[in-house]
Amino acid sequence: MQEFLPGFGIYVHVPFCVRKCSYCRFYKSNPSVGDIDFYISSIASELGLEIERAERSGKALRKPDTMFWGGGTPSMLSEPSIERLALALKPLWPSGEWTVEVAPQTITPSKLSLLKSLGVDRISMGVQSFNPKTLKSLGRDYPAQAALKSVELVADAGFAKFGIDLIFGADGQSKGEWLDDLRQAVALPVNHISAYCLEYESGTSCCGGGRLSDSAYNKAAREAELFEAAMDFLPANGFPQYEVSNYARNGAECVHNISTWKMGEWLGFGPSAASQFSGVRRKNPASLEDWGKIAAGNSAAYEDVVKLDDSEMFVSALIFGLRMRSGIDFSELCGRFPAARHLEKLNILKDMQSYGLVDISGERIRLTRAGILVADAVAVELI
Ligand code: SF4
Repeated sequence: MQEFLPGFGIYVHVPFCVRKCSYCRFYKSNPSVGDIDFYISSIASELGLEIERAERSGKALRKPDTMFWGGGTPSMLSEPSIERLALALKPLWPSGEWTVEVAPQTITPSKLSLLKSLGVDRISMGVQSFNPKTLKSLGRDYPAQAALKSVELVADAGFAKFGIDLIFGADGQSKGEWLDDLRQAVALPVNHISAYCLEYESGTSCCGGGRLSDSAYNKAAREAELFEAAMDFLPANGFPQYEVSNYARNGAECVHNISTWKMGEWLGFGPSAASQFSGVRRKNPASLEDWGKIAAGNSAAYEDVVKLDDSEMFVSALIFGLRMRSGIDFSELCGRFPAARHLEKLNILKDMQSYGLVDISGERIRLTRAGILVADAVAVELI
């Protein structure tokens, strides 16, 4: 895999969905026309405030490397709304990758061609499964054929990068059914596959930590089996794993996400969007109304504001960097964040090496396969 440097990205949260899936923790609502108008004009105001803030500090807001519209369901916006949102953000159109998340049944050839003409070059589609029973258990009310038809539409539109998201661990999903999903996925004209573990209950999945009851233990063991099936099947079929949940053909990795895992800078726009920029991490409120106060100039409405120092950044760089299969270069991170407590964290990592969770080879530190299965628990140890 090509080595990527941390860059500057823009994240735009589009907080609207046609339906609300039971497992989803993202902020979203079923909007009225008025909500969408309010949202787009507030995005323009929020950007205006960022430009003013940058000018006051003596620097112009620089052109980003990447932009990512997530949600929610950006593709549920009408074509005029997509165009208005893109134009509102024009000063921040990226020099590189521009991703838009879409959902099956919310795209049309003309919507896709509009996105392409605006400069979007990466589409990420939340397919989740091709199995009718799994789709039903996830609350998806369309047939698998509809997802396949939508995949075809995106492929025909010819974006440089096209990824789909799948979910494993739904109630009653067998290993055979999960492997069927994976088999169908690799046969599609996509070059990126994300495979996420469904977490109905925090701390009871293979992706979480915590003390487990017998039934939770069985559930976690089943999820670990499905996770390992993806880690075996996808790389063997042309999709190397480059992050805990992400697999891509060479050159089709998501540059925007890699930059955030490498502790680049990003500015988030829209309700619930987070930012890490100019030495500060902060979150927008997860409600259209409260976020509107920020867009109207009330900076006291930001949440979880943290002034970043070397210790904070070093720990984040370790946790997120270790999610990448390429791992981290420990001395490089020590050089980037010189005032952090390097030795203390190195000793924790050496402990984990003795449990077979981490591989340390010179300055390069990676999670082992056993470590990937408990990546969130590894993160907790490092905090
Ligand atoms: S469509 Fe996507 S963002 Fe919306 S509720 Fe379902 S999973 Fe969440």
